[in-house]
Amino acid sequence: METGRRRLLKQTGMVLGLLVLSPVSGLISPLTLLADSFPRPAKKDRCPVCGMFVHKYPHWMAGYVFTDGTKAFHCSPKCFFHNLFHLDKYHPGKALDDLKVIWVTDYYTARPVNARDPEMRFVAGSTLVGPMGWDIVPVKGLQCAETLSRDYFGQEILAFGEVTEEHIQGARKGGGRVTK
Ligand SMILES: [Zn+2]
Repeated sequence: METGRRRLLKQTGMVLGLLVLSPVSGLISPLTLLADSFPRPAKKDRCPVCGMFVHKYPHWMAGYVFTDGTKAFHCSPKCFFHNLFHLDKYHPGKALDDLKVIWVTDYYTARPVNARDPEMRFVAGSTLVGPMGWDIVPVKGLQCAETLSRDYFGQEILAFGEVTEEHIQGARKGGGRVTK
C-alpha cells in the first residue's frame, strides 16, 4: 500500500520531469494541466486496446476522463481512436456523452491537449511510427500540421471530427497508410 506522501513525491517527480522536457513552457501551466484537465497515467495503467503500459510512451499517449471520474489511458492516438469508435466494447455501459475530457499529446510540444480543440489537426498516412506502428498524428495548429505532413509524407490533414474508423483501420492494418 502506497502512502500519500510517496504518491505526492512521485507526482512531483513527474512534474519536474515534464518541466525538464518542456523548457519553453511556463511554470504554472504544466502544473495546472496535470492537476486539472489532463491526468497522467500511473505505472500500472495499461492501454485498454493493446494492453501496453501507457507511461512508457509520453510522446504518444492519449486518454479520456468520463463524467463519473473514470479515466482511460492509451499508448497512442490509434488505440485512443479505436476505443472511441468502440466504447461499448472497452467501457461497457458508457457512451460518447459520458466523456468529459478527451486529450491527446501534441506531436511537437509533447504536451497534452484537448483533442476537441478547434485548432487540433490529425495527420493521417504519414511515415511517422508510434508505439503501435503507423499512426494518426495529433498536431496543434494547421501550420504545424502542414509542416509535419510535408516532412513525413502525410496523406490527409483532418480535424478531430473528420477522423473516421476507416482512417484508424488503415493505420491498424496493411502497414498503416490509408488505403483507398
Ligand atoms: Zn495501445
